[in-house]
Amino acid sequence: MIRDLSIAEVRLTPILVADPPLLNTQGIHQPYTPRLIVEVVTADGTTGVGETYGDAKYLELARPFADRLVGHPVSDLNGLFELADRVTVDASRVTGQVDVGGLRGVQTAEKLRLSVVSGFEVACLDALGKALGLPVHALLGGKVRSEVEYSAYLFYKWAEHPNGNGEKDDWGAALDPAGIVEQARTFKDRYGFTSFKLKGGVFPPDEEIAAIRALAAAFPGHPLRLDPNGAWSVETSLKVAEELRDVLEYLEDPALGTPAMAEVAARTGVPLATNMCVTTFAEVQEAFTTGAVQVVLSDHHYWGGLRNTQRLAAICRTFGVGVSMHSNTHLGISLAAMTHVASTVPGLHHACDSHYPWQSEDVLTERPTFTDGKVTVSDAPGLGVELDRERLAALHRRWLDDDGGFRDRDDAAAMRTADSDWVTPSTPRW
Ligand SMILES: [Mg+2]
Repeated sequence: MIRDLSIAEVRLTPILVADPPLLNTQGIHQPYTPRLIVEVVTADGTTGVGETYGDAKYLELARPFADRLVGHPVSDLNGLFELADRVTVDASRVTGQVDVGGLRGVQTAEKLRLSVVSGFEVACLDALGKALGLPVHALLGGKVRSEVEYSAYLFYKWAEHPNGNGEKDDWGAALDPAGIVEQARTFKDRYGFTSFKLKGGVFPPDEEIAAIRALAAAFPGHPLRLDPNGAWSVETSLKVAEELRDVLEYLEDPALGTPAMAEVAARTGVPLATNMCVTTFAEVQEAFTTGAVQVVLSDHHYWGGLRNTQRLAAICRTFGVGVSMHSNTHLGISLAAMTHVASTVPGLHHACDSHYPWQSEDVLTERPTFTDGKVTVSDAPGLGVELDRERLAALHRRWLDDDGGFRDRDDAAAMRTADSDWVTPSTPRW
């Protein structure tokens, strides 16, 4: 019997998930952050799940896209891109400014489309895998490793959200080198991580240099990274690189834009990584020919899915540029997707980033776990995850009831609830 794997129904469920008060150069994470859960249901009743950004501009694109998807074979992954091109993007949603929510370079209509496509591509792969009895990594050509290593993602952090809003967490504050080291110890104790990344661009560079030095002293020989999201000038970037050259695995987006990164790269031996100046295929050539980056941090959400992530990895390999993975706030569906694709990429020499340990809430019946800093690659059909419908409904209810303005992520607005004078710092900040 030939099974009917055409898409009969697409369900879109926007949700708000709790997010701790994590600091970055733009401001602070809101108490709740939007995500979109995508479900595709085939005519024979197989359901696949995906996850992507949930801000209004993504939802506006996802809804007409979902309507057009009905009737298409769930295996027609190439067709997703063509379908997406036919959905109009509201030009007022595309600011041409740095994407504040994702801190992932300049917003464009194409990036919006690809971010939406990624959620659907993952859902289609999950459904296809379930229908065929194959894990997603097998649909991507097969895993080349059975575990994927992740790094601890350290943040400067307040103990609570401003005005006591949001959910409480047990991490406490981390606002100086000692606080960062304590946070790193907790990450290591709970999850076994052995590489550490600090989100920087929050305090003057000397304080962040001191934090990395403290980590190096507390965890000798462990890979360390610092990511100020382009907050520094070329000269400041070079100063930090010089002071930390003996302990850094890489410096991530010290300065904003490919020309500035190329200037830094030309004058330091510290490798530079990016998820801000190489965020689309169109940006690859300039960055690679000018030697601006030595490691590209891929993100299947904004590169347009798991297969585009593999393509990016192949290009990086060709040019001798390293590859690893960027992370924005995400849930277990995306962690599973990241793990499947990462398991298929040869030469993954740097632990991937993941915010997941910061997320106390999820929509799965079982949370993915980190052991010795690694996630085991699932061999179950599809992604190997199952939706908890009660949790999904509860987090959707929070989205429906939201009157706190959390349906669009805005870290600067969240900071203004504590500091009414706060404006997004201009770049370079230092
Ligand atoms: Mg980054």
